[in-house]
Amino acid sequence: MTRKAVLVLSGLDPTGGAGLLADVSIMRAEQVYALGIPTALTVQTGRKVIRTRGVSKDYFRDSLQALLETFRVSGVKIGMVPSPGIAREIFSIVRDLPLKYVVWDPVLHSTYGTPLTSDEALDVLKKILPLCTLATPNLLELKQISSLFGIRGSKKEMLGRELSQISGTSILVTGGHGKERGTDYLFHGRCMATFPGKVTQGKDFHGTGCTLSSMILAHLVKGYKLETAVKHAKKKLEKRLLEGFRSIDGRWFMGV
Ligand code: PLP
Repeated sequence: MTRKAVLVLSGLDPTGGAGLLADVSIMRAEQVYALGIPTALTVQTGRKVIRTRGVSKDYFRDSLQALLETFRVSGVKIGMVPSPGIAREIFSIVRDLPLKYVVWDPVLHSTYGTPLTSDEALDVLKKILPLCTLATPNLLELKQISSLFGIRGSKKEMLGRELSQISGTSILVTGGHGKERGTDYLFHGRCMATFPGKVTQGKDFHGTGCTLSSMILAHLVKGYKLETAVKHAKKKLEKRLLEGFRSIDGRWFMGV
């Protein structure tokens, strides 16, 4: 039997709260066979990203070739993209492989402000957005990506709708940074669906964006329609938040 494999292209956060370790473990917990190539190595504590280093293009390309000789890949998750070189490699994959699902979680900065995806990489990722099934920006990321398409404004309804219409891609605006924390908004062209969520009062969780986007991709691969995939993914994320724990330096990590 051929197994559906999903390829994760994201930064390696050794804490496992975000990035590649989190993405792969979440998908495997959903019985989706996830493969992973790090786009960058990071040094981080729970609260701060201390240093990042992008991997070389050769390493990235050779890893990809080796994986494609081994597995049939039906979906890709894109996270941190440190450089335009790695972004161009990702663009070729997304353009050339017969992928069913591509989810881009545009991690532009860490919660505490360290840049994770460079502006030059973002210029290349702009070309990838129309090839994605779904992008999952928070409001800050939505503003930055929208401005690349000449869309300006501060309201998520307008930005989400226009970005989705221009790119032809579904956009899930995650509510982590707004007044309505925990509520996410899905835009498909002119339509919008709202997904209310529970608030984790006073608990500053690491990696919620990565977890949600990976969980959604896992559900898409398992055959759920997008809205149902988002609903199930949010429920499972909330369960992990309830099972969360506090690190020595005071950040909250989700349960496994
Ligand atoms: N490191 C990596 C590799 C990430 O992908 C992310 C977020 O997606 C972070 C760090 C930052 O996570 P947070 O903003 O939750 O601290």
